[in-house]
Amino acid sequence: MSSLTGKHLIDGEWIATESGFKSHNPTNNTENETSFSHGNVDLMDQAAQAAANCAETFASLPVKARADFIRTIADEIDARGDAITEIGQAETALPASRLEGERGRTVGQLRFFAEWIEEGSWLGARIDTALPDRAPLPRPDIRVSNKALGPVAVFGASNFPLAFSTAGGDTASALAAGCPVVVKAHSAHPGTTELVAQAIDAAIKTCNFPSGVFSMIQGGDQSVGQAIVKHPAIKAVGFTGSLAGGRALFDIAASRPDPIPFYGELGSNNPVFLMPSIMSEKADAIAEGWAASLTMGVGQFCTNPGIIVGLKGTELDSFKTKAISILKDIAPQAMLTDRIAAAYANTTKALAGDNRLTCLLSTQDTNNPFCATPAIFEIDYAGWKANSDLSEEIFGPAAFIVECDNLEQMEELSANLIGQLTTTIQMNGEDTEAARNLMPHLERNSGRVLVNGFPTGVEVCHAMVHGGPYPASTDSRSTSVGSKAIERFVRPVCYQNMPDDLLPEALKNANPLGIQRLIDGVWGTNAL
Ligand code: NAP
Repeated sequence: MSSLTGKHLIDGEWIATESGFKSHNPTNNTENETSFSHGNVDLMDQAAQAAANCAETFASLPVKARADFIRTIADEIDARGDAITEIGQAETALPASRLEGERGRTVGQLRFFAEWIEEGSWLGARIDTALPDRAPLPRPDIRVSNKALGPVAVFGASNFPLAFSTAGGDTASALAAGCPVVVKAHSAHPGTTELVAQAIDAAIKTCNFPSGVFSMIQGGDQSVGQAIVKHPAIKAVGFTGSLAGGRALFDIAASRPDPIPFYGELGSNNPVFLMPSIMSEKADAIAEGWAASLTMGVGQFCTNPGIIVGLKGTELDSFKTKAISILKDIAPQAMLTDRIAAAYANTTKALAGDNRLTCLLSTQDTNNPFCATPAIFEIDYAGWKANSDLSEEIFGPAAFIVECDNLEQMEELSANLIGQLTTTIQMNGEDTEAARNLMPHLERNSGRVLVNGFPTGVEVCHAMVHGGPYPASTDSRSTSVGSKAIERFVRPVCYQNMPDDLLPEALKNANPLGIQRLIDGVWGTNAL
């Protein structure tokens, strides 16, 4: 059931193309066995056309049928669990426990969306009934509900081979919204991608859904990814990856004759503010928590806490001593790809020799070009303020500690942050007033503000926001995690004086879905 073919899944067919590539095992720097076909623009065109051909049918299916389909995908992924973990380890060097946890999150996320679409409020149903006797003008009957955007292209992320990839959050939310999906696989984990695509293919067949609902095309040269963003059948894009890659594709989406939404989650360095009172209480404990968060998954999380902001003094000195004592002993660990490891090594080596900074811990040399160790740099606030280039994300276990002279400098720093996925305040009750001064800036500059935790570990729930002002994401109004993610792939359609027969289910007088609707300004589930 779970053997690899090296093929693409296009409109229900497993298709091979001639030229092949192999994925790399970062743990021992060897090639994995299976040869994968390269994607090309023709196959991508077939996938997009197939998605367009079934888009209306898929969007119009009863919500229950779509929810069952999404649950079936989750079951099929679970059925392939061991094989997915095995190939995942060989392609990413992530430990089995992490891959199993990520699979649990992926199938949990699928089931979460299935339940959410059955609940119905994502349809945004609102009804303003006609007021024929209103003077001076009567009001017509006006109703609105959300409708699927159409085919969505999804770029799998390198750092979450399951939860932000083939059947990850973008795919789950797009399918839940009723949008067919074309996945452009990440070239670092083609085997993991194929097994998950096999699971989705099996679910399509079990549920007797149109084959164009999901296609997967393996990596090729960048023309494939660019062509899919340009393709007229594609109506939105979900992307997680680098600022450079995401920005290039965003610009393509925006310069189409018919520009489309591009939801890119691009990067963040997630500042952590250490407030004075809590630092006098538990600087060492905070340092321990931070070191663990910074190095989890070799720092390859978009929520990695890469900037510490504290007040000069003995507490911050103690924090640094404790953190370095832990971080210096962390053994080299393999990163996801040689490209990511090389970028990390080059950046941290350059920073270690940069006379604007003090290097508190430099990366160790290892025999494996995939491997990395933590790196920590210190700078005072004046230096930080004068060197905006230091605010760029470093993907890996590296961080800056910025020393401020006073709370005013801390606040000024918070006000001048570039867009972030998260910001964190370490505080106790006595820090409340100082923290209050930071709040307007953190709210403006980040998608999620945390207190006394660390930003790694993003809960999949209704209230989550995993997004933020640019460059954290390309649309600060959206999230790629949690039930609100579905809003990216729907748009409101308004119906004026429409006969009941022609209205979508969500707006019919009898309320056959039994969902909450805003009727003449009052929420309720009543029929009209
Ligand atoms: P990436 O280089 O941006 O690649 C992501 C996806 O986009 C891949 O499928 C890639 O295709 C495609 N792509 C990138 N640039 C493209 C372009 N100009 N035209 C067409 N397609 C393009 O990201 P990555 O490989 O995952 O990691 C590289 C860096 O991204 C990391 O060092 C890190 O800085 C950042 N990153 C950030 C996050 C985050 O959560 N924000 C996550 C992962 C990585 P190929 O597979 O064919 O290359």
